Amino acid sequence: MRKLDVTQHGLTDYEVRSRHKKYGYNELKEGKRKNVFQVLLEQFQDFLVIILIAAAIISIFLGDVGSSLVILVVIVLNAILGTVQHVKAEKSLNSLKAMSAPVSKVKRGGEVIEIPSRNVIVGDLLILEAGDFISADGRVIESYSLQLNESSLTGESLAIDKNANTIHETDIALGDKRNMVFSGSFVTSGRGKAIVTSIGMSTEIGKIANLLENAQEKKTPLQVSLDRFGKRLALGIIIICLIIFGLDIIRGRELVDSFMFAVSLAVAAIPEALSSIVTIVLAVGTQNMAKENAIIRKLHAVESLGSVSIICSDKTGTLTQNKMTVQEVYTGEEIIAYDQLQLVNPHHKKLLDLAMLCNDSVIFEDKQIGDPTELALVKLGREYQLNEQIIRGLHQRVGEIPFDSTRKIMSTVNRMGSHYVMVTKGAVDVLLPRINRIQSSNSSVITKQQLEGIKQVNQTFSNAGLRVIAITYKDVFSSNTTEKDEQDLTFVGLIAMMDPPREESAQAVADCIKAGIKPVMITGDHKITAVAIAKQLGILKDPSEAIEGKEIEKLSDRELKALVEKFSVYARVTPEHKIRIVKAWQEKGHVVAMTGDGVNDAPALKQAEIGVAMGKSGTEVAKDASAMILIDDNFLTIVKSISNGRSIYANIKNAIKFLLSGNAGAIIVVLYATLFALPAPFLPIHLLFINLLTDSLPAIAIGLEPHNKKLMKEKPRNINEPLLNKKFVSQVGFEGAIIAAVTIIAFQIGLLSGDTGVATTMAFATLCLSRLIHGFNCRSEESIFKLGIFSNLSVWIAFLIGFSLLNFVLITGFFEVADLNDFQYLMIYVLSLIPLVIIQLEKLLLRAS
Ligand code: ATP
Repeated sequence: MRKLDVTQHGLTDYEVRSRHKKYGYNELKEGKRKNVFQVLLEQFQDFLVIILIAAAIISIFLGDVGSSLVILVVIVLNAILGTVQHVKAEKSLNSLKAMSAPVSKVKRGGEVIEIPSRNVIVGDLLILEAGDFISADGRVIESYSLQLNESSLTGESLAIDKNANTIHETDIALGDKRNMVFSGSFVTSGRGKAIVTSIGMSTEIGKIANLLENAQEKKTPLQVSLDRFGKRLALGIIIICLIIFGLDIIRGRELVDSFMFAVSLAVAAIPEALSSIVTIVLAVGTQNMAKENAIIRKLHAVESLGSVSIICSDKTGTLTQNKMTVQEVYTGEEIIAYDQLQLVNPHHKKLLDLAMLCNDSVIFEDKQIGDPTELALVKLGREYQLNEQIIRGLHQRVGEIPFDSTRKIMSTVNRMGSHYVMVTKGAVDVLLPRINRIQSSNSSVITKQQLEGIKQVNQTFSNAGLRVIAITYKDVFSSNTTEKDEQDLTFVGLIAMMDPPREESAQAVADCIKAGIKPVMITGDHKITAVAIAKQLGILKDPSEAIEGKEIEKLSDRELKALVEKFSVYARVTPEHKIRIVKAWQEKGHVVAMTGDGVNDAPALKQAEIGVAMGKSGTEVAKDASAMILIDDNFLTIVKSISNGRSIYANIKNAIKFLLSGNAGAIIVVLYATLFALPAPFLPIHLLFINLLTDSLPAIAIGLEPHNKKLMKEKPRNINEPLLNKKFVSQVGFEGAIIAAVTIIAFQIGLLSGDTGVATTMAFATLCLSRLIHGFNCRSEESIFKLGIFSNLSVWIAFLIGFSLLNFVLITGFFEVADLNDFQYLMIYVLSLIPLVIIQLEKLLLRAS
């Protein structure tokens, strides 16, 4: 501490600022990010765009300067549009990442605060607890059973004890530096303090790590399958284009014209935007989810959310409020209401004192800091004007064995005058077998009857949905106690506390069940307490649907799989059981969302399709293993996220349908013209206009369609079912065919005038307008009259932009469009409305369920 110029109070703000200037920030160097210009350049790297540019340049040399320039302008506009979308999507995904950036607890200016790990600086006092990631290298100065997992550095997967002892040997291996903690490792149990000695690239991991991989998000399964589909489709379209090119040449069309046409058709028909539409919709969707308290850490989770069929949820804090208040106390002789204890009664006083000694929570002014179970005990003391800080000052703590959710108990060793006392508190069923005395004037040996009495009272409390904590102690002779010493305890009392369900939980559970999702409660609490709460919430009807951790232990994996669907409440489970439960559900073909907060929950969070970490009470390790973080720890937020996941998936599907059906329409028209040896129905520039300018905005707008409540009345989507299933493809074909039909009619009407220019203009305008109007059809499976015509304003804006662009072109005669008479103009409008009428009718009549 002297060397780094720090005191027990930690660094001051001033020192922190000056040290940041000296040492920089605690981060590993990242690979270079792409700048906007590089993103813009990438837009031109598309194979088809390159060919298009080449074709445009060739035709400049052949004298057709006008249309080539227009093509180049369209390509540039398209590239700018693509860049803006890309940059925006990336920005929102980055801000999402920032929301779940790692944090560290440090003591600065005498106060323990949480700061972004990036701001940890040399000399900081790190406060370490189970589940914390170590964000920098440091020297341990205090340790209570502190154990770390250093596998990311040393490969050693067993937890390593850490202590504050001095090591005299010099040249020792990293794994043997027991008084140091290293960045990249995490605390598996215990607690401690360390002083930061090096940060960022100077840490051990910084020295061995190469540049961090560029934090680019991997493609989601949907994007991968769309890319694959897109490639196959592109190949098919290129073959069609080659055939049309060949036929055109045979029929004596100019080589350059034929080439330009074939290339434009390819550009128009190949849906190269599929994967980027998915990115944009996901980016916007996850942004909205963050506003609703769910931070998505892994993008692919959004897709799987819609398929979740089981939610395994913790009880405490997720389904309940995590606001514990003591209701009743049992002294071994009588049950007493929380406010009827007598301070003059030494037994009562002892119970209150011990409950506050074996306890890390504090109430400071109006701030309540610590674990709600322990805060309830502190509040109980405060009822009787007992101050936990004063009591802890009188009976100094000299040792401790911290609480963890596997052991379900904790102990502290406190000085009591000339000797030491170990206070142990925790789950009644865990402590009962370890109790052999009962508090009385001479702390006599406990009788069978008394043990039976405690069991019964515990049962009564639990039946009322209360959490029960047993308080015990024993005299010890040294502060160096271990788990082995937690035996031969003296019973002092039971304290029963209430944690009411969240008001919104019962409704959320009911919504889940309606949506075909089974909510399952997994809790460390007593079975009877869990059953009582689960009943109130509607998770369980009959107590036979509950099982305990120790019963799970007796089952083989195969047996558990066979039985798993019977149970909706798993009580007294340890995190190790959680992973077996997830696997059993998965083997039954379910997609599982699993909540967790502790360091030991990480494997189960990783195993579940959607690992959900608690934002408030969750450890850093749990957050790191999760796909999603609940900012408010609330079960309702999980249900909302599933609903969001379902609608994001539906929106992506609809946007893709919009793009594919429009493209199919264009291809069918060209094939028709080729087959019947008619003139080309579109000029290249027209196809590019549609594909590059008026097509992507409606697709994005469809992706922004607001929630449709109907989606939560359907069963979860089968995760193995491909997006492009038969039904989807046939709908694309059907809708594409209608668009093609009206375009062909427009083309034929145009041909009647004897002017090919008029015919292509009519075909182009009808294709463009009917596709824009078709955007309204693609908003949902439901008819727009049911959805509300104006319930998605983005689609209207996208339509109006496209509509204005089209009319601008038609009126000014740009883009080689011919003059039309009033009848022809009218026909474009009338024909373009037909797909809307037919498809809406079809939805109302056939798809209505
Ligand atoms: P859930 O899994 O529903 O969120 P939980 O995580 O709160 O429940 P744990 O914290 O593992 O469950 O608690 C399990 C049991 O351990 C409790 O029923 C209680 O008896 C005991 N317990 C909880 N907190 C403490 C504590 N701070 N000290 C001692 N014992 C505790």
